[in-house]
This record gives sequence, structure tokens and C-alpha cells, in this order.
Amino acid sequence: MTDSHTAPDAPATDLIYHVDAYARSIEARVVAVDAENRSVALDRTIVYAAGGGQPNDTGRLDGPGESWPIESAKKQGAVVWHRLGGEGSLPAVGEAVTVSIDWAHRYRLMRIHTALHVLCGTIFRDYGALVTGGNMGPDKARMDFEMEQFTPELVSQIERVANEEIAAGRETRVKILPREEAFQIPDLIRTKINLLPEGIDEIRTVEIVGLDLQADGGTHVANTRECGGIKIIGTRSKGKSNKRLELILINGEGDELPAG
Ligand SMILES: [Zn+2]
Repeated sequence: MTDSHTAPDAPATDLIYHVDAYARSIEARVVAVDAENRSVALDRTIVYAAGGGQPNDTGRLDGPGESWPIESAKKQGAVVWHRLGGEGSLPAVGEAVTVSIDWAHRYRLMRIHTALHVLCGTIFRDYGALVTGGNMGPDKARMDFEMEQFTPELVSQIERVANEEIAAGRETRVKILPREEAFQIPDLIRTKINLLPEGIDEIRTVEIVGLDLQADGGTHVANTRECGGIKIIGTRSKGKSNKRLELILINGEGDELPAG
């Protein structure tokens, strides 16, 4: 969307992906249409809108007589706008639609996103290092830490311990807490919760039980075992006390990922 363009008013979208990351298809209703951007807002969605280092989902919107590819999704305030591909007419306000996502893409992101939490939790526990940034795609991710250096020995130790934690089958728990309550959790302070805008009165937390707790809006797998494993493929210096790890997912059991 261009900066000069203002999307029409729309009610807040019910973010089903915040409570059920495994929903692949849902029924919803169109609540607003932004014809200029070929975008629609729905009463509820499972299409993740890009944010927090996790890319948006893509998918399909099926109406009674027509269907549209969902090319991207973007959150503006409390509204998720789904940008539709194709040409021609758009669904009308009030229309009932079925929303489905490209599950293979999303599930890869859930696995790699959860693996990043394992890495954060492990490095904080074992070395006391905070995360300074990160980004992910379905195949590859990177994460920056307040570390002086990552020697090859340290990297292989981190990789081994992170893979042990993944294999330990730790559960993931999601909670949506009132802001005041969330601010009393000491572990959350290290994820810079204090940088969250004043207007947000509920905080979603994602916990890998016994290992990591963060304020987070992304999608994660229910159990670390689903991640498979990670391989650290590179390190990079981003400053004196800021070092980057680059990683990929590797095969888990019963998983069809190409090796490496
Ligand atoms: Zn996360």
C-alpha cells in the first residue's frame, strides 16, 4: 500500500493464528474492501501478516462463485488487509468466504521460528547473551546476539545443545495476558517488552516450557520435536559485541525436507 493511500475503516480482525497456529482453512466474512489496493479485510483470519521477523503467509480466498489468490497480508493497526491477485471483480462486503493458507510454507516458518526460540533460550541460559535482532524465511534464518565472538568450537557446541533441546520435545505454550501482568514477568524484559507501544493493552507470550519466554506475535509449532533440527551454516560480525548466526532447518523424523 502506498503511503498516500488510506485504507477504509474496518473492524479489528480476529487473529485465529494467534490461538491456533495449525488452522489451515476457515470460514470468514468480508468486512471491508480497499479496491485501490485489491485488498480485503475479514472478520477473522489465519493468514499471518508480516511482522516480528516472520514473513506473511500466502493462500486462497474462495467465494461462492469465484476465488482469488492471496498474494500477501499486511497489518494496519488492528486490521489485516489481504491483497488479492488476479484481475476483475473483488468480493463484496458481507460475502462469506473460505480462507486457506499455503500450509507447506507456513509450517516451515513455524518450525524455523520455534527453532530460533530454542536458540535464544539456549544462548541466554548458557552464555547470558541477549538477542539484538533476527529474521527468517522458510529455508534459512539469522539471529544476532550480544556476543564478543563465536569461535568454531562455540558454534558447534551451541548447535549441539540447541539440537538436544529440540529433541527433548519441549512444549510450546501461548498466552494472551493483560499488559500489567506481562510486565511483571522478569524473563520478558530481555525481549525488550518495554519497547511495545503504550496503546497495546494485551501482550501475547510464547513459552518454550523450561527454556524460553518471549512477547511474540508469530506462529510456532506445539512441540520442539517438530522443528527437526538446526544446522548453523555461518557466522558474521555485525559490530564489536554483536555477532550473527545463520542457520537452516535439517530433517526431522518423517519429514520430507531436502537434506542441507
Ligand atoms: Zn516467536
